[in-house]
Amino acid sequence: MTQKEDWNYSTQELLQKFDVTEQGLNNVRVEETRRQTGENILQEGKKKSTLEVFLGQFCDLLVVILIIAAIISMFSGNVESTIVILLVLIMNAVLGTVQHIKAQRSLESLKQLSAPNAKVIRNGVKQEIPSREIVPGDIVMLEAGDMIVADGRILHNYSLQVNESSLTGESTNVEKTDMVIEGKAALADRVNMVYSGSLVTYGRAQVLVTGTGMKTELGKIAGLMNAAKERKTPLQESLDKFSGRLAMLIMIICAVVFGLCIYRKMTILDSLLFAVALAVAAIPEALGSIVTIVQAFGTQKMAKENAIIKDLKAVESLGCVSVICSDKTGTLTQNKMTVQQIYIDGKVYEPKELDITDQTQRYLLYDAVLTNDSSIVEGKGIGDPTEYALLEMFRNIQVESSKFFGSAGIYEDILRKSMDRMEEVPFDSDRKLMSTKYSLHGVPTILTKGAVDVLLDRCTSVRYTDGIRPMTESEKEKIRRQNRIFSENGLRVLSFAYKESDEPLSVDTEYNFIFLGLISMVDPPRPESVEAVADAKKAGIRPVMITGDHKITAVAIAKRIGIFEDGNIALTGAELDALTDAELDDRITKISVYARVSPENKIRIVEAWQRKGNIVSMTGDGVNDAPALKKADIGVAMGITGTEVSKDAAAMILSDDNFATIIKAVANGRNVYRNIKNAILFLLSGNTAGVFSVLYTSIMGLPVPFAPVHLLFINLLTDSLPALAIGMEPADERLLDEKPRDPKTGIMTRDFIMTMIAEGVLIAVVTMTAYHIGIAGNPAKASTMAFATLTMARLFHGFNCRSKESIFEIGLGSNKYSLYAFAAGVCLLALVIFVPFLHSVFSVENLSATAIAQIIGLSFIPTVIIQLVKLCRNKKGE
Ligand code: ADP
Ligand code: MG
Repeated sequence: MTQKEDWNYSTQELLQKFDVTEQGLNNVRVEETRRQTGENILQEGKKKSTLEVFLGQFCDLLVVILIIAAIISMFSGNVESTIVILLVLIMNAVLGTVQHIKAQRSLESLKQLSAPNAKVIRNGVKQEIPSREIVPGDIVMLEAGDMIVADGRILHNYSLQVNESSLTGESTNVEKTDMVIEGKAALADRVNMVYSGSLVTYGRAQVLVTGTGMKTELGKIAGLMNAAKERKTPLQESLDKFSGRLAMLIMIICAVVFGLCIYRKMTILDSLLFAVALAVAAIPEALGSIVTIVQAFGTQKMAKENAIIKDLKAVESLGCVSVICSDKTGTLTQNKMTVQQIYIDGKVYEPKELDITDQTQRYLLYDAVLTNDSSIVEGKGIGDPTEYALLEMFRNIQVESSKFFGSAGIYEDILRKSMDRMEEVPFDSDRKLMSTKYSLHGVPTILTKGAVDVLLDRCTSVRYTDGIRPMTESEKEKIRRQNRIFSENGLRVLSFAYKESDEPLSVDTEYNFIFLGLISMVDPPRPESVEAVADAKKAGIRPVMITGDHKITAVAIAKRIGIFEDGNIALTGAELDALTDAELDDRITKISVYARVSPENKIRIVEAWQRKGNIVSMTGDGVNDAPALKKADIGVAMGITGTEVSKDAAAMILSDDNFATIIKAVANGRNVYRNIKNAILFLLSGNTAGVFSVLYTSIMGLPVPFAPVHLLFINLLTDSLPALAIGMEPADERLLDEKPRDPKTGIMTRDFIMTMIAEGVLIAVVTMTAYHIGIAGNPAKASTMAFATLTMARLFHGFNCRSKESIFEIGLGSNKYSLYAFAAGVCLLALVIFVPFLHSVFSVENLSATAIAQIIGLSFIPTVIIQLVKLCRNKKGE
């Protein structure tokens, strides 16, 4: 007999097999099972071992050049140099490895922050838990927008539709069932099962988990896949390219210098020493790790400020964002809905005035409470704020209702328990309706609520206290007028209708209703939205509001927040559909508000802005928003109200759902990029100084000014510290004064290279001056003087590279790290110069007090000049 598969069992048999009831597992069983099956996670291929990471650090052309330099030093009899270079290489690799592991960890912690949750029933109580805690036997509740995080068998199905494209490659939705399937079935045909990695696009279901972690179908595929390749960000890639080109350039220059020395009849060994010094001076050993650290630091900071970066690329592109398309409800507004006024029976009521003994009003209340999936638990709303606002309204009219129900006040629970929901069609933001079917007073009745403009046209009559009247054009006009009055005040309006009917409920039967009334609610703007919108505009970023809400409501709120200005246009989704792409391109820059949009409209909006060369950020929370989030340059999902599907598609998640957080993240993104650019300028201009010094001496036929140890000491120790400090430069207000960066221009612009060379030349000039002073007095000291001057000048230079502005404007103390870095660098240099024991290791000589004074004086000169230039340039700019 063949073994019975999970889909062959009846649900009762399967529950028995897993020894669980529909009340779910208890904690003891959960613990027990977890000990046997482990956590519900996918082992990601094989991770690189620490040793592999360590060895990987040596697979770098620049490192290879250094190794060659070490070998040459050895042959030149300079064994100490060789040892130091090798030690430095090992230390560098250790640092690189630690770096790599740290960055990995920081990424993983970000991944944890954005890991999906699942709703389960345990001990008979519905609760939300992290998906990794799910075990076989758990009862999971699925609803539209959820990501399925384990394999399972459907126990109860309510029109569940699932997208299983990640498993089957089939992109259409699959309708599920809770029936038994006989015999063998291919994965795609097991319609009573759901599989980890698929998305719920519609409906609800209760599922018994049959497999978790690597035992899921997805796990079986994941097991076959190799380790996911570590993806590099565009910046890292362009730096890789840069260092490749740099290595080539260095080798060419080294060859030229070598040839020059030979031509001057130097010994081969001396010529080689020049080439080695040049190579070591030019290679920015610390650059790669510094970029990684600064990026990791930046994402951690953003996470603390509620913006969780899922895709490291986003850190860079954030600084280029020029358009932010934001949802209104919950992102620009608070999503704290409160019912304001009710329109029923041709009159406007305050919520407290409603009377449940009046049959018309009672039907409205039934509709509001029963066609509603939210609940209030211990004073807190669960579910859709629009819906629990209706429950709160209901609770407030209980004085009268207590008479009706013969108890001291009623909660919606009592009403819900006494009625049985027979069928339902859930809300979705395309249809903008939700319907349920109940048996009211023994008559099957369909209750519907939704957007006024959608529902009104589906009503054929209106209910008044004194009877039902046909829906004439003048009746419609009365309702529309009231809707307009509510909307102009920025209120969100829901309309309610019903019909007595026992036809099966589906999207095709949501017609021929009897209109009941309107309920309006406020959703005040977030106080910080106004300022954030102003900041965005100042920063050259265009904020655009996108909402499913009514156009008049949307414009009223957009005006209050500052998004809608005079001369701007508001468009509805239907109006957008009527435009051709060319017409849309003509208008796009004027349109600040899109109302009554469907998720498909969002894609067109993104594309239109992108055609104009903009970097677009788009927010979204629903299941259908995923394509638009992927299409946008930066898709932003809502951490609190967002579906797992939208979070999966986004590059960034807002853990507070707040528009202002996007602006903060943009500022942080700009800051990270600016700091990286400044740190690179610092490192490269310092190296340029070293290269020019070596070139100068080789052309002048003077002895080599630096031993490789000197240059490694600077590049790896005294230069890394200020570079890191520059990377930690805090974000300031000026960051939002500039226009967004053009993503096409990289870091190495003409300006950048000119500055790098100019600053490098300045430092080289003072270094060589010190060298000449040394050679004139005591030739043996020349090299030490040059080394100390170069080190000090570069330490001072750290302050120059903190900002485009002069240090007087940004203040010396505004970045404490830069002061610590300077102090630490000076201490390190002092150790090398003053501790006799280190002299031979670092090839330095004793220096006189005069020499030290000369070094300090000379090394300060470039900084004075650079600061003066910055000051003048700024004066001119004003
Ligand atoms: P947004 O989130 O941008 O406000 P939605 O798609 O949530 O847009 O809502 C669009 C419209 O659908 C609302 O204006 C309202 O009329 C209606 N609506 C919103 N939520 C519900 C719901 N839970 N049930 C029925 N209709 C709703
Ligand atoms: Mg909504």
